[in-house]
Amino acid sequence: MAPAAPKPRPGVLDIEAYVPGESHVPGGLKPVKLSSNETPLGPSPKAVEAFTQAGSALERYPDGQASALRHAIARRFGLNPDRIVCGAGSDELINLIAHAYLGPGDEGLFTEHGFLLYRIVILAAGATPVVAPETGLKADVDAILARVTPRTRVVFLANPNNPTGTYLGIDEVRRLRASLPSDVLLVLDAAYAEYVRRNDYEAGLELVATTENTVMTRTFSKIFGLAGLRIGWAYCPAAVADALNRIRGPFNLSAPSIAAGAAAMDDWAHIEAAVHHNEQWLPWLTSEIEKLGLRVTPSVANFILIHFPDGPGRDAAACDAFLKQKGIILRRVAGYGLPGALRLTIGTEDENRKVRDALAEFVGSHA
Ligand code: PMP
Repeated sequence: MAPAAPKPRPGVLDIEAYVPGESHVPGGLKPVKLSSNETPLGPSPKAVEAFTQAGSALERYPDGQASALRHAIARRFGLNPDRIVCGAGSDELINLIAHAYLGPGDEGLFTEHGFLLYRIVILAAGATPVVAPETGLKADVDAILARVTPRTRVVFLANPNNPTGTYLGIDEVRRLRASLPSDVLLVLDAAYAEYVRRNDYEAGLELVATTENTVMTRTFSKIFGLAGLRIGWAYCPAAVADALNRIRGPFNLSAPSIAAGAAAMDDWAHIEAAVHHNEQWLPWLTSEIEKLGLRVTPSVANFILIHFPDGPGRDAAACDAFLKQKGIILRRVAGYGLPGALRLTIGTEDENRKVRDALAEFVGSHA
């Protein structure tokens, strides 16, 4: 008999690992990568400089409190730095929240086409995922509330959501918070907040400041252009910050990440340029693709969801293969329950024009 091997806890091997956006195309072409919602403008040059400088002292442990980064964030948004917890991407913070607040017998709730990581972290914590249906590819507060049970401990809401690009206005978010039991933690995942230009949108800072049971997570991976460094932050009630600080790694951000993140936060002109770019190209791509006869879900973020008709040679899978041959990578979203759609990140002007032309060719090839 073979000797017994170590076994992960029950359920761990039932988790389907997160599949990142692809980055390679056949034939060694330089890809046009529009699959991971990264910014076409790259990071602030000041962040890159700070990163490089931090490289001269790599033998030292980083500041375990990430003070420079927390203070830069606090200055920018007028927050209490003690309530900011930083992580290796908002992924880490979402994971820490699940591990701190969920366990076997508990339920974690999220919406039908919500960010895939929620299911993973809920299962990893040994808890049960519960899915609330959406209406028109948008979170539905009543549907979420209808799925709350005495076991519900955490509700994850991506606002705006990935991959749909839809959002809930602040009144609806407030209604959700007010109607949830007070012992349920509401996690507002605002990874794309900086891109949103809508009067009725708020990322959730005020709700965090005025309730004891709401957390907001943010990231440096999207508009800040620092996805490769892995930096995220959470704004928390004091008790939640305390819980997360107890279980996070003591040095969970590298010194170059802390330095680059702080410099990026101080270069708001760079962020404004990225918002401006998106404001120009998000509507352009949306309308150009609609003109081709494809349906696009209206997005407030830096990506759009394109819906394809069924049928061999015309569907999302066929388009994905067609684009890849041309070196263009979009994101298949079948794992999000959207097998008929592809998600497209807004790119540079050149990339946007290339993808529009390639989509026109694809649609024209079976007109
Ligand atoms: N939340 C949402 C909604 C996202 O789309 C992403 C990135 N795919 C994340 C969180 C995690 O981003 P990061 O870990 O890079 O901060």
